[in-house]
Amino acid sequence: MIDPIRLVKTFVELAQINSESFKEGKLATFIVNKMASMGIDVRVDISLEQIKSDTGNLIIRFPGNKSVPRILFMAHMDTVSPGKGIQVMVENDVIQSVGDTILGADDKAGIAAIIELVEVLNYERIEHGDIMAILTVAEEKGSIGAKNIDYKNLKTDYAFVLDGEGPVGGIITQTPTQNIIKAKFIGKSAHSGISPEIGINAIQAASNAISRMKLGRLDEETTANIGVIRGGTSFNVVASETYVEGEVRSFSMEKLKTQTEHIMDCLTESAKDIGAEVKINTVRGFTGYNLKPDNKAIAIASEAIKKAGLTPKLVTTGGGSDANVLNEKGIDAVNLATGMVNPHSKDESITVKELESLTKVLLEIVKIALQNKI
Ligand SMILES: [Zn+2]
Repeated sequence: MIDPIRLVKTFVELAQINSESFKEGKLATFIVNKMASMGIDVRVDISLEQIKSDTGNLIIRFPGNKSVPRILFMAHMDTVSPGKGIQVMVENDVIQSVGDTILGADDKAGIAAIIELVEVLNYERIEHGDIMAILTVAEEKGSIGAKNIDYKNLKTDYAFVLDGEGPVGGIITQTPTQNIIKAKFIGKSAHSGISPEIGINAIQAASNAISRMKLGRLDEETTANIGVIRGGTSFNVVASETYVEGEVRSFSMEKLKTQTEHIMDCLTESAKDIGAEVKINTVRGFTGYNLKPDNKAIAIASEAIKKAGLTPKLVTTGGGSDANVLNEKGIDAVNLATGMVNPHSKDESITVKELESLTKVLLEIVKIALQNKI
């Protein structure tokens, strides 16, 4: 039986361990010890050498019946900021943070549910197939951990990523593609009171560029944002450098390209206008997916949600997750809603009931896989 008290205790323990991106080591150690206490070995994967984090992705295996589909559950260990010194408060079924931090249900709800699943499978000796859980690092920095998994040796039939916003029952079947744009304006420093005419103001070039850009929700398929601007050294110095970071997301590859070029043109022209230089670096953040309704992972998830007493709902989202990387690598993966509300904010919350529902869905997925002999 799923034990809600144990589940909440696990969640609170996980949430109160700092694990902002690239600093997931302490959380990883906690999970490794927790799994060891249940007799399960955890391996740290090769991403440890490739990513500047203090741990790699954790690979957790529960070997089982080899004649049924292999299931992969995935959640991420890192959180966004402010995620240091999180204190958790549980009141009337609602779990929130006390004070000025996120809660980190994104994505510790997923990890807590996986741990509770293992507790239940172990304790009740429930028969299952090969189950693997991968807990990734640096998802919030563009799924860096997921991109560095050793896919050649990853054997699974279906993957369920536990990282979606909203009530449990939601199955994310479509996401946009994201481009990330980073630009560095280089001007020329000068004393702003004595010789401003020999300076070239990089802040001015950047702000002119941003003011020309179309940003926000551009149409029903496309969004664009500038999220970082950093530059200058002092009020009396003409700024010689300014750094700008932004993104474009679209369900249409053509619109993604057009909007990315628009932003790049604004950056280039504004630099040219005042004689500054700009170096632009554009990379693909995540690649979108659009799963067909007859997709097997969707079918399994829908059936599991129904068996857990909930209503499955196919959802389109503007966000990306590790599921985007898995689909790009040819693995059938859906992202499931975990019950988290307002992630990436100080108002983030989740209910005990949703944590329990999520675990129920995972347990049903395992049971359904066992009935689907291959
Ligand atoms: Zn997340």
